[in-house]
Amino acid sequence: MCISPTHPTALKVQLGRNLRQRHGCYINAANATRIHADDKIYSTTMNVQNTSATQPISYPIEAHPDVGEIIEIAPGVQWLSMPIPGSLAFINVYLLRDHNGWWIVDTGVSNDQTTQLWQRIFTERFTDEPVVGLICTHMHPDHTGQARMITEHFQCPLYMTRGEYYQARAFANNAGESHSGWIGQRFYHRAGMPADFLEEIGKMWSKRSNEGMSMPTLPGGYERLVEDQVLTIGGNDWRVVIGSGHSPEHACLYCADLKLLIAGDQILPIITSNVSVHPSEPNANPLKDWMDSHERLLTVIPDDTFVLPGHNLPFYGVQTRLRDLIDHHDERMQAIADVCVEPQVAKDLLPVLFNRALDPGQTMMALGEAIAHVHLLIHHNRLERVLGEDGIDRFHTIDPNHP
Ligand SMILES: [Zn+2]
Repeated sequence: MCISPTHPTALKVQLGRNLRQRHGCYINAANATRIHADDKIYSTTMNVQNTSATQPISYPIEAHPDVGEIIEIAPGVQWLSMPIPGSLAFINVYLLRDHNGWWIVDTGVSNDQTTQLWQRIFTERFTDEPVVGLICTHMHPDHTGQARMITEHFQCPLYMTRGEYYQARAFANNAGESHSGWIGQRFYHRAGMPADFLEEIGKMWSKRSNEGMSMPTLPGGYERLVEDQVLTIGGNDWRVVIGSGHSPEHACLYCADLKLLIAGDQILPIITSNVSVHPSEPNANPLKDWMDSHERLLTVIPDDTFVLPGHNLPFYGVQTRLRDLIDHHDERMQAIADVCVEPQVAKDLLPVLFNRALDPGQTMMALGEAIAHVHLLIHHNRLERVLGEDGIDRFHTIDPNHP
């Protein structure tokens, strides 16, 4: 997947041409009315008419930038990749040029390698033009891991939604806490997991923490992002579009002039974002939030948008991808409803959804996903949950229309 370009400079030139063709002319920043980024502007809701066929998914850029390399995607919008542990390999970080410096969107994890990469970029890029603001799309450690370091270094504000900021602070340095003790024990017992599963998860958390994937300490203050807020950066208006399900109040940034969407993990082109129920909120219904968000994004993000995701490669075909993701979860719910004609425990739904061996960390995420699907089915009155005398939940299809 992540093939390094042999001639990065040539790639940059090619990219510029490619995007210019698609976008027509770029914005004229000189004519734009400058509004300070922390001003809030509320305007009429965007509305996309979805009548015609949508374009297929395509990737005009063939590979991630080399580590340390920065690629210009549009005037004043730059892309770099930070390595992260695990099969995902990279998180995409974006830089937005303002009149007095740069904004960073998302940060990479809190390990030494990432800190050193940033320090190098600070020295090479940000001495004359400092970082003036940091935006974190959502709370997860690959997106917030360096937030404190960056904001301390430049004494610049961190912008996040309230839900993401405070949830990140609540979980800082104790991401595994709710998975231990009686809350975790009860959650996993009800799901039918063996008693030693918590021990396995404990080992997984300490490994993740060593890799920089534990929740970091955030700055002590932040600037709140809200739905429809517009940040004018370098003459471009970036509208905050909020989704939910992968995390509580995920901010995307949409720029109509540049036809760009910085999507974080709300819309990824290849992998599907984890949508999970966790012991910290055992009756949550995040898949409902996720599906509702996607239905809404279909109405506000035009199909000619170039999507800059948090992982994988930038892509066209946002409407196709949103529909694919909705269909994907609908199909999974149907598969669960089919198997729950006979009552099932959550643990036994894993092979229905995942046809591969899972390590303890993957099992934890897969179980959370299975329960998320179950909760949405219950919400739609297609499934019922019965707590047995053994303390284990069993799920049973009650949909009268189910064959
Ligand atoms: Zn991520």
